[in-house]
Amino acid sequence: MRVRVRGYYEHKEVPAEGKFYVPIACQQCEDAPCTTVCPTGATWQESDGIIVIDYDWCIGCRYCMAACPYGARHFNWGEPNLPAEDVNPNMHILGNKPRTRGVVEKCTFCIQRVREGRMPACHEACPVGARKFGNLLDPDSEIRYLLDHKRTFVLKAELETHPKFFYFWGTEGRS
Ligand code: SF4
Ligand code: SF4
Repeated sequence: MRVRVRGYYEHKEVPAEGKFYVPIACQQCEDAPCTTVCPTGATWQESDGIIVIDYDWCIGCRYCMAACPYGARHFNWGEPNLPAEDVNPNMHILGNKPRTRGVVEKCTFCIQRVREGRMPACHEACPVGARKFGNLLDPDSEIRYLLDHKRTFVLKAELETHPKFFYFWGTEGRS
């Protein structure tokens, strides 16, 4: 089934009839076109699969934004203005470090948390438990169970970016 996707609401109230809403973060593509176009080597895939950006190397050219088919990268137009006392001391240079104006940023699966064995903040905050996160290589993980027993899909599969961000719903059996 092909679905027409729009990145912005064209209606004032949600949910609107006939509309289906999904969050679209960085899809953590295995074959990520965003990383191959970067002229400074500022973005790459880590050995655990997370696509990262070194904000000190990023020159804000936005090539990666053009290359990303999911609209998952965003240019930072603002200076960081968080009061010093509100800055999270648990900072990761490739994660939640405050970004300066003029760089491109995106979701990093909360690298500063998951590298310490914690869950991404969205996973923790979701009031209905709609998000799952885990090690795809672990046969005993919940995420592996879901992929093996639920109907799942990835966005724009035909582009062969091989996302590691899956969407699933309750019916047993893979789609
Ligand atoms: S979703 Fe976009 S930014 Fe994220 S890895 Fe894929 S191509 Fe790169
Ligand atoms: S905006 Fe930054 S990360 Fe993206 S391609 Fe340019 S230098 Fe690389």
